Amino acid sequence: MDATPQLPKPVANADSQPYWAAARERRLLIRRCSACQQLHFMPRYLCPHCWSDQLEWVDSKGAGVVHSFTIIRRAPIATFAGNAPYVVVMVELDEGPRMITNLVGDDALQVAIGDRVSVAFEDRGDGDLLPQFQRSSA
Ligand SMILES: [Zn+2]
Repeated sequence: MDATPQLPKPVANADSQPYWAAARERRLLIRRCSACQQLHFMPRYLCPHCWSDQLEWVDSKGAGVVHSFTIIRRAPIATFAGNAPYVVVMVELDEGPRMITNLVGDDALQVAIGDRVSVAFEDRGDGDLLPQFQRSSA
């Protein structure tokens, strides 16, 4: 049985709507503060560095390294039970911001800190794509 359609779909709010719209186009967006030039993730209304509301969207290259990870062997809710074991990673993007995401792919369980990773868009149905990451082939 394919569990993918039962997985949660992205729920956009006013702060994240452009992020999810770009994901549908297989683009990974992060935010840059026009006041202090710092980049950040996750999407939010105010810059977490200087509290400015002068933010813009920029395209990430979608590449980075595994900063940390954990392997989930017992899913916290039944929806994800079919995916276990699966890998939750903190990816440090090459642009600097860190993202908590899932590592997908056949070799995900061989993950190590420092692995190069790249964005992979997981189909959640109806055109919704969820930015996830996969190990990069050297
Ligand atoms: Zn700022």
